Amino acid sequence: MFKFGSLKKKFLAMASAAALGLSLTFGAPAVASASLLEEAIMIGVQGAALSSQINSAIKHYNTTEAGQQELYGAFREKYGVNEDPTYNAMLDRIMANLIKGAAQVDPTVNDKPYKYFISNQETLNAGCGMGRVMMVNVGTFKLISSEDEIAAIVGHEMGHGQKDHAAKGQKKLLQKYIIANVAGAAVNSTIGGGALTSAITQIAFNHSVAHGDRKQETEADTLGLEYMLKTNYNPGACAAVMQKFVEMEKGKKRSAMEKFFVPSDHPDSDKRRDAYVKKLYEYSGKHVTAANGVVKINDKNFITVAPSGNMSGAERSYFILGNLAVAYHKGLNKQEATVQNGIVMLGNQPIIEPAEGDEDAYTIVERLNAIK
Ligand SMILES: [Zn+2]
Repeated sequence: MFKFGSLKKKFLAMASAAALGLSLTFGAPAVASASLLEEAIMIGVQGAALSSQINSAIKHYNTTEAGQQELYGAFREKYGVNEDPTYNAMLDRIMANLIKGAAQVDPTVNDKPYKYFISNQETLNAGCGMGRVMMVNVGTFKLISSEDEIAAIVGHEMGHGQKDHAAKGQKKLLQKYIIANVAGAAVNSTIGGGALTSAITQIAFNHSVAHGDRKQETEADTLGLEYMLKTNYNPGACAAVMQKFVEMEKGKKRSAMEKFFVPSDHPDSDKRRDAYVKKLYEYSGKHVTAANGVVKINDKNFITVAPSGNMSGAERSYFILGNLAVAYHKGLNKQEATVQNGIVMLGNQPIIEPAEGDEDAYTIVERLNAIK
């Protein structure tokens, strides 16, 4: 049963929350003094109005050019813009390559251009907010030197962008916010226009929304790999970058990786890595796999990979897996493996350039020809 006092409080809270609709193009609500029953009905109406107001704000940010521009500007201002020419040229290249690749599986990628930039944040992170506004932290470029791996991260973001994950997540969060604050307004009657406005704007480009849902994460991972497979990037980089995350987590460098990309409620990096390996195994026609730094072809050990540069042997092994998966997918395994300029080739597909600690190219090529 309703008590008049608390209901009145709720009603007033609703009215004041709804009033902010002015700033979001909704008119101020009609406020009527009414009987208890009428007030109860009124609250229902206001709640619906508030929901529609939120939907409208999300639509604005997610689907209009003006909204996209507002978010892009706001986040450039908030996170800073890194102008490093090398990093920016790399990101331009990655975006162009991935959009071209993605268009082959999802032509809607060309419906609206992405707006993207490199932020001045030093942590390893990237995000795609509403309206296809994408940000990659400069820390990502500093901590990851491989363009293929950065492309794998950006491909994941594009997966979020193509499926409107940020808008979907924000709708859910804001609905929860309404339920918590409006239904609970008897306890907390301070909800007002400011609170809701800041909730909408704060959530508008919150990466944790885009990365906060396991289902969405898995979908973004799957799509990112699909886009990568339509580019010249090494698709094994998707698994390799997850291996890098696994090692960073073990090395307690987790603080360098913001939870946006690797949130604690996220599928674990090793599970995501293994999911990519499984997909590459399928892509190769079930010929090639890798685990613990060992690449296997047709269930036989092909190579135990040595570490090189800033990559562990395990991380490098996924690049070799990626190259082999592409070669098998193209049927190049029917051709003789050769050594060209020190690189092991299968047909015209490079497989591995041996590093110090690896076996020499001729030993590797001999084994490849024997087991492929
Ligand atoms: Zn994500």
